[in-house]
Amino acid sequence: MTNIQCDLICVGGGYAGLSAASRAAQLGLKVMVLEKGEDSLYACNSRYAGGVMHVSYHNPKDSASVLTQAIRQISNAYADPHLTQVIAKQAGRAVDWLHSEGAQYARVGSVGWRQWILAPLRPAVTQMDWQGRGADMALRSLEKNLLQREGRLVRGAMVKELLMKEGACIGVRAEVAGNTQDFYAKAVVLADGGFQGNLEMVGRYISPNAQALKQRGAGTGCGDAVRMAMAIGAGVSAMDAFYGHVLSRDAMTNDRVWPYPQLDELAAAAIVVNEEGVRFTDEGMGGVYIANHIARQNNPLSTVVIFDEAVWQGPGKAAAIAPNPSLIRAGGTLYKAQTVEDLAAKIGLPAEALVRTVDDYNQAIAGAHLHELTPARSTTRRQAMALVNAPYYAAPACAGLTYTMGGICIDENARVVRADKTPISGLYAAGACTGGIEGGPAVGYVGGLIKAVSLGLVAAEHLASVAVA
Ligand SMILES: Cc1cc2nc3c(=O)[nH]c(=O)nc-3n(C[C@H](O)[C@H](O)[C@H](O)COP(=O)(O)OP(=O)(O)OC[C@H]3O[C@@H](n4cnc5c(N)ncnc54)[C@H](O)[C@@H]3O)c2cc1C
Repeated sequence: MTNIQCDLICVGGGYAGLSAASRAAQLGLKVMVLEKGEDSLYACNSRYAGGVMHVSYHNPKDSASVLTQAIRQISNAYADPHLTQVIAKQAGRAVDWLHSEGAQYARVGSVGWRQWILAPLRPAVTQMDWQGRGADMALRSLEKNLLQREGRLVRGAMVKELLMKEGACIGVRAEVAGNTQDFYAKAVVLADGGFQGNLEMVGRYISPNAQALKQRGAGTGCGDAVRMAMAIGAGVSAMDAFYGHVLSRDAMTNDRVWPYPQLDELAAAAIVVNEEGVRFTDEGMGGVYIANHIARQNNPLSTVVIFDEAVWQGPGKAAAIAPNPSLIRAGGTLYKAQTVEDLAAKIGLPAEALVRTVDDYNQAIAGAHLHELTPARSTTRRQAMALVNAPYYAAPACAGLTYTMGGICIDENARVVRADKTPISGLYAAGACTGGIEGGPAVGYVGGLIKAVSLGLVAAEHLASVAVA
């Protein structure tokens, strides 16, 4: 007879794992979170987040139909319709539930997607600054509530294997303080945060040169959940996309230029070229998409954002932590010249090719045939600005990888499913280790926090309903 020690084990103590755990404990279940981090404020993307609760850059309190449409649009209809519905329906409630658990919110300006930001707000500084900020504080609240509800959070517990019996997941095997220990439960929620921290997997799925990507986050998601789930027959979605941003290439060596400023606004208004001085991506799709395409280059550290004074003074100042002027203040590299030819000489790009690329782009704008460029340049998401106002600028770029979008296939109850869509009994997944919602050819971004909390709630509530039934 299996010795069931608790109702639910959550693998990982980020927003996905702690939301599932706290909610399950609230519903009267006996819960344990196994977290590999050892520190009291262990590193994870959840703690480091800027705290913006949004759904595809929409207010999470918008109606489910508005949010459904937003997800469909940003993912170009890639997102699984059932999971889209789940996020669209749960998002507003996730915001409220987190508030009831102690999260504080602030609104910034009047733009819809910035109305629910975890407070205290992160200050407008370029480098990592998370301690005591909204995302960190709300995570601490979740842990406190879990303990008050007699749940447990075990630090230093690295989960390595799922324990299975007759096709059902009955627990996990973990390494705790150098010892292998088995933990049994009625169900397990996988919530390890993705596979961005696993260079072998990043190399296999995302970039031919994984070392050349900047880890734009905690890097603690190392693909254990995907590996364990695949080992017992779970399906996985397309694994080739990630959430991240275009960063200054200096981020590889200078911690003052990441996680901000993002070069997204510059890149999306202008052009990005490779070492041949040639465009390689549709900049109009925005920064997350461009970052993915930088990562797919054979040499992701060879790409450069090219723009002019109008872009630098306009989109360059648009973000809260804008590259103009924070890139310069933080010591990031920016080349400047009066002609494109001189700019090419300064950065070591072939001048003739770069001049031709800029001319072709400018002519395409003037003639309204951007779609005929190779690669085509879209304008639905971002307008293309002609590069005609000297001085011209070049910002060496790199891809900042925050979390991977592909992962474990789940159903609308967050149950892990096989390739044939049948659920694996006793196994759930939530947060950044799940797939099917974000990514796809358009690299649709839905929102890491909302995905983590919403799916955590869904998993806990489904388990509570079947555990009681
Ligand atoms: C700088 C930055 C800014 C961001 N800003 C925003 C934002 O404003 N809005 C937004 O929506 N999203 C934002 N995000 C993304 C968001 O933080 C994440 O998508 C989300 O928090 C993921 O939650 P999670 O619980 O799935 O994963 P994580 O927070 O990564 O937690 C996973 C946990 O699992 C643990 N773990 C891993 N493997 C194991 C194992 N084998 N055994 C036990 N434990 C394990 C890890 O140590 C970690 O603590 C940001 C991220 C960063 C880095």
